Amino acid sequence: MDQLNDINAHRPWKKIARRKTRQIMVGNVPVGGDAPITVQSMTNTLTSDAKATIEQIKRMEAVGVDIVRCSCPDEESTAALKEIVQAVSVPVVADIHFHYKRGIEAAQAGAACLRINPGNIGAADRVAEIVKAAKDHNCSIRIGVNAGSLEQELLEKYGEPCPEAMVESAMAHARILENHDFFNFKISVKASDVFLAVAAYRGIAAACDYPLHVGVTEAGGLRTGTVKSSIGMGLLLAEGIGDTIRVSLSAEPEEEVRVGYEILKSMGLRSRGITIVSCPTCARRRYDVIKTVQLLEERLAHITTPLTVSVIGCVVNGPGEAMYTDIGITGGGNNTHQIYIKGVADHRLKDGDVVEHIASLVEARVAEIEEEKK
Ligand code: SF4
Repeated sequence: MDQLNDINAHRPWKKIARRKTRQIMVGNVPVGGDAPITVQSMTNTLTSDAKATIEQIKRMEAVGVDIVRCSCPDEESTAALKEIVQAVSVPVVADIHFHYKRGIEAAQAGAACLRINPGNIGAADRVAEIVKAAKDHNCSIRIGVNAGSLEQELLEKYGEPCPEAMVESAMAHARILENHDFFNFKISVKASDVFLAVAAYRGIAAACDYPLHVGVTEAGGLRTGTVKSSIGMGLLLAEGIGDTIRVSLSAEPEEEVRVGYEILKSMGLRSRGITIVSCPTCARRRYDVIKTVQLLEERLAHITTPLTVSVIGCVVNGPGEAMYTDIGITGGGNNTHQIYIKGVADHRLKDGDVVEHIASLVEARVAEIEEEKK
């Protein structure tokens, strides 16, 4: 984040001033402060099925997930959590609802964080036990307020879920933890309505300095959920609000991770893998840009080194876009296309396989960058 902000120092219109927050640790991953904004997702396997859950988390790791959450609705789940935590590389958050015992078991099993609302646990001694387990096992907590499950008294006070009610709920949970001398927590105030979520996050951002886990909940399927999440998170991230994000999609969790990264990448807040700049094509295009982009995305999905590639159909926008990318192609006549390397016209490709040619240039450039880092 800071590094990207430095790059954009002379472009004030691209600079995002992040909200100042405390920093907490979710396992070995810092959240808040000057830490990079992390991308989270959640498993949808039965947590009690350790094998399936581990396999799913590994698929999420392959696309860059920073933190993974698993629901722990029963004892079988917290029992499996131990094996899961040991088998994966990323920190695991245990999602607990009302059963405080599951929270204690999860902390003992090695969860890096508990998603639990202390106000929902009931008796004060139970809260004390949870907090003690979290402290003993170096486990952080996420207070997760959701517009769809606000406390009855707040609904009666405010009449309906609203930003004020959500902030009040979150702060009441926060006070409980603070009263137990526990400050190692982050907060989320999610809603499926974009305006409600954004207003609630603005409210909680102003009310405290805890790191915020940002998301638009139950956002929908891959397309609609991506749009809603991008709008909601985009508004907040542009204001510097958000320390860790979860895109909530009715889709495979890997998709949530990919979309999360794309949101952060498009705002210059994280960089990972290939970013393709491509044109929509029109009658001027000199090769099949759409197919090329599809194939390149698949072919280069394994690359984690940040690199930009411009894939442009003709000279109208090709040279201009290529100037700012690592590798570029501009379609030309006679099936002869101009190739750019580091923004400079380098050579022409005549009658060649565009996808393979670009992919090999990208791989060579990645190898060069990785070598330079050593
Ligand atoms: Fe059409 Fe060329 Fe623009 Fe692509 S760059 S949309 S091919 S005019």
